Amino acid sequence: MYTMGVDVGSASSKVVILEDGNRTVVAKVVQLGTGSSGPQRVLEEALTESGLKMEDMAKVVATGYGRFSFNQADRQVSEISCHAKGIFHLVPTARTIIDIGGQDAKAIKLDDRGGVTQFFMNDKCAAGTGRFIDVMARVLEVTITEMQDYDAKATEPAPISSTCTVFAESEVISQLSQGTSKENIIAGVHQSVAVKACGLAYRGGVTPDVVMSGGVAQNAGVVRAISKELKQPVIVAPNPQVAGALGAALYAYEDALKAMKK
Ligand code: ADP
Repeated sequence: MYTMGVDVGSASSKVVILEDGNRTVVAKVVQLGTGSSGPQRVLEEALTESGLKMEDMAKVVATGYGRFSFNQADRQVSEISCHAKGIFHLVPTARTIIDIGGQDAKAIKLDDRGGVTQFFMNDKCAAGTGRFIDVMARVLEVTITEMQDYDAKATEPAPISSTCTVFAESEVISQLSQGTSKENIIAGVHQSVAVKACGLAYRGGVTPDVVMSGGVAQNAGVVRAISKELKQPVIVAPNPQVAGALGAALYAYEDALKAMKK
């Protein structure tokens, strides 16, 4: 039995197809989010690669910021629930999830059965999200994937005092013109994101294991900065950008089983 999870995010679109609720047949990401061709493109890529059709899916669950714009789903489930489900499936020891996406950051607390006990979210401000890093990468003329390599070579993170993305961008420009190295500025950018994200996690108390999900978890510089800020190890979920879509596919599997029993 095949089920599909679709995560229509602000920055990217993701699809996971599962076989019998455990084997991942395909996991795809297109770096274009809601309101773009991203959702349709990622769907087509996932179906082509797997050789499956929409009719082969027992159930489809959509999640993410743009989940209500995806009309081929049987049901919509919140990102909080889907990230919790996906991460707990991948890392059953997870008790605190830090999810940093394109437009928001979340800290989610789990009990030992994977249930969400508390969550804290910043979706009001770009600081502490992927968007903050994307803006700084542009100014620094570095790609998103290169950010971690520069960070690894930093000697002293350059402090970024502004919590506003627009002012922080001016700060970065001024540091560049004063000759501060890109490596140190980038480490400072990552530290700023880490402090913001950890601020959310502190509100519920940080219980190990701490696991990161979302696109920004692919940036080892941010992961290092979060681990340093929390003074504890941080586990990166395998393929962290599709954790929400995986959770959605798992919900779809549960829905399909329930429908069979009826
Ligand atoms: P959303 O679900 O809100 O669309 P994602 O979880 O897909 O967001 O995260 C998008 C963010 O992830 C981007 O803003 C970007 O900063 C970051 N990102 C995406 N791919 C990579 C990568 N390969 N390395 C580092 N960061 C990445």
